[in-house]
Order: sequence, then C-alpha cells, then structure tokens
Amino acid sequence: MSDKFDVLVIGSGPAGYVAAIRAAQLGLKTACVEKWVDESGKTKLGGTCLNVGCIPSKALLDSSYKFHEASSELGVHGIAVKGTSLDVPAMIGRKDKIVDQLTGGITGLFKANGVTSIQGSGKLQAGLKVEVTAADGTVSTLEAGNVILAAGSLPVEIPPAPIDNEYIVDSTGALEFQEVPTRLGVIGAGVIGLELGSVWNRCGSDVVVLEALDEFLPMMDMAIAKESAKIFAKQGLDIRMGARVTGAKVKKGKVEVTYSNPDGDNTEVFDKLIVAVGRRPQSENLFTADSGVSMDERGFIFVNDYCETEAPHTYAVGDIVRGPMLAHKGSEEGVMVAERIAGKKAVMNYDTIPSVIYTHPEIAAVGKTEQELKADGIDYKSGSFPFVASGRALAANDSEGMVKMLADAQTDRILGCHVVGPSAADLVQQVVIAMEFGSSAEDIGLTVFAHPTLSETVHEAALAVNGHAIHIPNRKRRK
Ligand SMILES: Cc1cc2nc3c(=O)[nH]c(=O)nc-3n(C[C@H](O)[C@H](O)[C@H](O)COP(=O)(O)OP(=O)(O)OC[C@H]3O[C@@H](n4cnc5c(N)ncnc54)[C@H](O)[C@@H]3O)c2cc1C
Repeated sequence: MSDKFDVLVIGSGPAGYVAAIRAAQLGLKTACVEKWVDESGKTKLGGTCLNVGCIPSKALLDSSYKFHEASSELGVHGIAVKGTSLDVPAMIGRKDKIVDQLTGGITGLFKANGVTSIQGSGKLQAGLKVEVTAADGTVSTLEAGNVILAAGSLPVEIPPAPIDNEYIVDSTGALEFQEVPTRLGVIGAGVIGLELGSVWNRCGSDVVVLEALDEFLPMMDMAIAKESAKIFAKQGLDIRMGARVTGAKVKKGKVEVTYSNPDGDNTEVFDKLIVAVGRRPQSENLFTADSGVSMDERGFIFVNDYCETEAPHTYAVGDIVRGPMLAHKGSEEGVMVAERIAGKKAVMNYDTIPSVIYTHPEIAAVGKTEQELKADGIDYKSGSFPFVASGRALAANDSEGMVKMLADAQTDRILGCHVVGPSAADLVQQVVIAMEFGSSAEDIGLTVFAHPTLSETVHEAALAVNGHAIHIPNRKRRK
C-alpha cells in the first residue's frame, strides 16, 4: 500500500473513529488503522468502549436491573411476579448482539463517510510515516499529512492477583461469566468495580468489594460519596475500605484472597475475583523514539490543550493522554483535532466534562466538588434537594439520593453539580449545558420545568443555592 492520506488515525475507539469520521466530513482523505480482530480475523472497530467497555457493561447493568426489579421491586406496585429466573448465557448473548450491531455500525459509518479502514497494528515513525503490521504478518508503510494517535488503554494488572481469565478476571472477563458466581470478590471500588459488582450483585452474587483507599469515591463530592455508600450498603454490596490485597490463589476451583487492613490480615474465599484497579495507556510499540512523540513515566503521551504532541502534525486523543478516561472526552478531543487540522479554531472545554457511574441509582457529576472549591479558596454557596421530596421520584418508587449544586458566592455562576439518584446522568447533562452557556443558579431557578419530572430536582437545587427552594425548608432564607 503506498497511498498517502491527509489524516491517518491509529485506533478506532470513540476517540479515533470519531476523529476519522469528522476529518472525512471535512473533506480530508482519511484512514483509520485498527489492530483488533475477531475470531474470524475480521477487524473489530469501536475500541474498548463498544467491545468491552461502556456498551456491554450498560447492557448487563440494564438486564440485571430488570431481573432485580422483577424479583424484588415490583411488589410495592401491587405486582406479583412468581418464579423469576435468570438465563445468564441469554443475558450475555443479548449483550454480544448489541456489541455486534454497534461495531458493525462503525463499519457502515466509515463507508458512508469515505474513511478507509485498515487492519493492522500501527507504529508511527519519523517523517509522518506509519508502519502497519497486519494480523497475517504483512508489513506496509503508509504516509500521512497528519497522524492522530488514539490507541486507548488497557486494564491495570497487579502482581498479588494475576489474571488467569478463569477464576481471576479483569473487566473484560467479568462481562463474560456464564453463570452467577455465588461469592464474588471485586478489587477496586472505582467506577468499573462498582458497576460490575452491581451487575452480579443484582443477579444474586454475594459481592465483597476490597478497596485499598480509606476514602470512598474520593473524586466525587463528599456529600454524594457518603450518600452513595449508604445506598450501596443497603443494596448488600459489602464495600471494605482500607483493604489492601496481598495475594490471590486459586485452590480447588475457588479463589482465596488475602488482604490486610488496620485490623490485621484477612482471608476471603470467592468463586470469581474481578480485578478492577484502573486502566493504563496503551502506548507500547505505538511510536519510534525518533518520531518526536514522547510520554510520561506512566505512558501518557504528552500533549497541549489542543492535543498536539511534540512532533509536528501529530496529535494524540482519548485515554492515551491526560484527563479523565471517558469515551465522550476522547470523542470531543477527536472532533477538535479533526477540525483544527481542517483549519478551524476548535477548542475543548475541559471544565464541563460530565462523569457518571451507572449503578442504580446513578452517580453523576460536572465541575468542581465542594472539597475542591474549599482547597482552591473559592467563595461558594450550595443548594441541595433530596429525591424523597420529588413527586415523580416517589411515584416511581425511586426516591433515594439528592442533587447538589455549587455556585460562586459573588457571581452566582454555577461551578458544579453532583447527583446520586434516578437518571442522575441525564439530570447532570442539563447542568452541563447550562454551564457551557455560563449560566447562574438563578438562571436555572428562573427556567420553567415540566411537572412532575425528575428534572424538577435540578430546578429546586438551583433555587436552594439562593435560599428559594419551594418544596423543602431552606437552610438560609434569602429574599
Ligand atoms: C468496563 C468498562 C466500562 C466503561 N464504561 C464507560 C462509560 O460508561 N462511559 C465512558 O465514558 N467510558 C467508559 N469506559 C471507558 C471508555 O471505554 C474509554 O474511556 C474509551 O473507550 C477510550 O476511548 P479511546 O478511543 O481513547 O480508546 P479505546 O476505546 O481503548 O480504543 C483504542 C483502540 O485502539 C486500538 N489500538 C491500540 N494500539 C493500536 C495500534 N498500535 N495500532 C492499531 N490499533 C491500535 C485498540 O485495539 C482499540 O481498538 C469504560 C471502560 C470499561 C473497561
């Protein structure tokens, strides 16, 4: 292959495929190199997100929630469901179908937009050349006017709990269980650990989550983290903080896990163990030393605010660069880079990236937490509203949690919003839009919200910021 492309993207995850589509839309001759192949040798587009991340985990979260609802939540509505049972292979099969549909969809979008899909492992060399090694070993060199590195991330492995893909699995293995483990251990109480722990807890596993940190969800607003911990405990998720795993051994078809905490050394026996301790950038063998690209000691490629690397016409986006490891963050970086290559003045607002944990209830956030504002010495005011005071949440029998909004004490400009509760992701998205427009809490307070909706909780939290909430007593009444 001796084609020269205007834009060559390495990696087809949400950062890479979105960058490729946007570049092609802008009239640039674009190709995307992807190394992932299925059992039949066909290229698998979509990266972690579509294949083993966001989408399959949400498919299992939804299936398992429906099972849990049918088994134990419907009685309160006067609905008796007898003899519920779970067909795990069918649940996994449904998930696989959704993944195939969506990854196939990217192939269709590439065709529709004129993006050339190239199978192989890409390695950037000096002079904007990319060496591609196909799954069959064939090596070719492509040339490009611009290269976008979007190679994503992989699960972190830890020496005390080596993955064997049978009893000790990472997040990918946890999406493939063919039966419900009676006792399930999860190492890591982060986003992925909580989501996967919730899936199997709802399916009937007795779940123990071991977390080395002392503080639960330290990246979340403290009030929301505290409320979430209470809700998870009620759901039967046994989350043990300050628990440092020291070993995991498979013995007679079970996993014996040892961990230490302030009380001493402990042992637990599980049917399966999920290791969910974070992800690391996939930057090995991605570029040669003379390509001009460099990375930090953890493997994150150095980029500036525009995702430009230190090499000319070379960019990096998504999980492989600094910032939260989130699909939508990578996609927006991909769009920004494609547009800048096409001569537009696109920029990315890193202050309004929402983050979500898709447990039930969901936990979602945008902007600063109260502890961050305190640490930064910013004068702020806050307003909260509990879902138990929302007519719609009560009607749905889904009234745990709260909305908390933070605003600048002087200007009233919204600085953050934090939610644990039903549809938290969609509620926070409303505040993301408001923040993009530089909204004040009063602006939201002056907006008409349909009744009865869960969105009214955002309205009331915004009113509460200035002491004007209607459906709860205000902490400080202001005129
Ligand atoms: C279980 C789980 C659940 C998640 N849930 C969510 C969620 O709900 N919301 C959310 O926002 N994020 C979620 N994430 C995170 C999300 O999946 C990532 O942030 C996102 O996929 C990163 O996108 P990316 O394009 O940077 O990289 P990736 O999606 O990792 O894609 C990188 C691609 O590059 C390819 N590649 C790597 N090196 C090369 C090479 N040298 N040559 C060719 N191809 C190469 C890889 O094969 C891969 O296909 C989840 C992750 C996991 C594991």
